Amino acid sequence: MNRPTYRVTELLGDGIGGELSQAIHRLAEALPVRVEFIPVDLRVENRRARGKILYDEAVELINTTKVALKHPTATTEESPNAVLRRKLDLSVIHRPVYTIPGVPTNFRRELDLDIVRIATGGTYDDPGRMIGDDGAVSLRIVERRPVREAARYAFNLARKTNKIVTTASKYTIQKATDGLFEKVANEVADQFPEVPHTIELFDALLGKVIMSPQKFQIVLVLNEYGDFLSDMACGLAGSLGIGASANLGFDAGAVVRVALFDAAHGTAPDIAGKNLANPTAIFLAFAMLLYQIGEISLGQAVKNATLDLLREGVRTPDLGGAESTESFTEAVANEVVQRV
Ligand code: NAD
Repeated sequence: MNRPTYRVTELLGDGIGGELSQAIHRLAEALPVRVEFIPVDLRVENRRARGKILYDEAVELINTTKVALKHPTATTEESPNAVLRRKLDLSVIHRPVYTIPGVPTNFRRELDLDIVRIATGGTYDDPGRMIGDDGAVSLRIVERRPVREAARYAFNLARKTNKIVTTASKYTIQKATDGLFEKVANEVADQFPEVPHTIELFDALLGKVIMSPQKFQIVLVLNEYGDFLSDMACGLAGSLGIGASANLGFDAGAVVRVALFDAAHGTAPDIAGKNLANPTAIFLAFAMLLYQIGEISLGQAVKNATLDLLREGVRTPDLGGAESTESFTEAVANEVVQRV
């Protein structure tokens, strides 16, 4: 029987990126579908040698395959993530953050948050300027389109998963920017009457997530708030190094047009080439990619096999275990085969 084939752009990275790429290929072999990875070399030397043309090629390919998996890249003159986000108009970042039983954390509660963050604007698109020597100013930008795209994505996710959406901002103080954000989010919420929607002030939300994490499921926020919340939530979950994200671009009908999946961690130069890299984050990113292409049960198999093994103590040294990148990958691949 012919296995369905999916084409995926694979953006090759620096440091542990090579080992993670091998791990992903091994894992993909365990699936009953064929994943054809089309590589684009985003390693430093190639970026320096080929510059803009390389990014143009990457963008053209991703626009064709619609999905991409990105390995960590060293930041040099530019951040490849920022360049790709801009060139592909990736306006939304979806970052699931959850505690994993067995993974060490200082937080004694369970946390399971889907952070949906507007990836552009806020205070991050304007570096600001000095006014004389003693003052400085920067613009805060909120635009209807990315807020609407993020809100539709968040409410659709809630509809599919029976979850609650919480919007959080400082609308009482930042009346224009955060007021517009809440207004657009409310307009979208009205189209999803069956989805519970709660509104919080962002500062209060931070405290409440720590005190009562079970009350929050999908949190929709502007750019900088998403940045702060993601790191806080990852710190609580003990998983700064094992988180993954989807970077999403939408068409005019607010349907996902392109999606780029990546791990939150960097290139880990200190352990590169030593067979010590933990591939959990890139496996979780790959699981999100499988959901995106409609292979929901395969995505669940990859995610659950990875998390179950971590729970059972099958772990790489960064999580206190003794597995190598290869032996952990082999264990996950074998587990996936049993489940699909
Ligand atoms: P880092 O995440 O690479 O490393 C921080 C620490 O975590 C190191 O001790 C490292 O060994 C460990 N670590 C990270 N990932 C790991 C994994 N998968 N398995 C086991 N241990 C892991 O952060 P850094 O050292 O600040 O950055 C190194 C480079 O990565 C920099 O050039 C930075 O700009 C880049 N970076 C890239 C991305 C990305 O491409 N998405 C993200 C963050 C940092």
